Amino acid sequence: MKKEFAVIGLGRFGGSICRELSKEGMEVLAIDLDEDKVNEYKEIAAHAVIADSTDENVLKELGVRNIDHVIVAIGDNIQASILTALMLKELGIKTITVKAQNDYHEKVLNKIGADHVVHPERDMGKRIAHNIISNNILDYIELSDDHSVVEVKAGSKMGGKTLVDLDIRAHYGCNVVAIKRDRDVIVSPLATEEIEQSDVLIVIGADKDISRFEKNLVVEED
Ligand code: ATP
Repeated sequence: MKKEFAVIGLGRFGGSICRELSKEGMEVLAIDLDEDKVNEYKEIAAHAVIADSTDENVLKELGVRNIDHVIVAIGDNIQASILTALMLKELGIKTITVKAQNDYHEKVLNKIGADHVVHPERDMGKRIAHNIISNNILDYIELSDDHSVVEVKAGSKMGGKTLVDLDIRAHYGCNVVAIKRDRDVIVSPLATEEIEQSDVLIVIGADKDISRFEKNLVVEED
């Protein structure tokens, strides 16, 4: 059975989610107040309707209650975003993802019980900043306020050495949880595993430890 989604707010973020889910064959109900936006998604989403998501009766009429996962991508109007999330929660929607505009907005959404609160601009800013520091930092994912996962190219400082030689845990307090080598993924690598320069390491740890690890072992001198 196809999974059903609703995307409320068809700005750049909501629109992009709607396009991608539809491209992957998912059944998407696209909702926006703005007629032009809705027309833009008529051909893309399974259903596209003009509606105000802050009106509980409208949500009920649209059958939103039966949808597995609703994404609220209303940006500037924080009040509308919070009200919508609250009503979706009351309707008993299984999974609600909401885009937060700032930290206060995020706090309220967490209190209401939104399942996932996303902060796309802030998160993308952090990921790009890490990538700017070094081409060897491929990705950066925040796990909590002070813990992250980084994906880094082993490069010349780590290539040819074993995890014992580098002793990343003792020196930097982070853990190499997996190594990607060509098409293989070595999960929980042994300490004796010899790292190749082209390997990609997945490292988990506290931000301050990851930052030392990046400075000392990932960033290559020019
Ligand atoms: P982005 O950065 O993703 O382009 P944004 O953060 O600037 O978007 P807005 O443009 O403020 O977000 O809102 C996104 C969309 O949500 C807009 O198309 C707007 O019409 C729609 N929207 C706002 N309030 C409601 C509402 N109550 N019901 C349905 N759609 C709404």
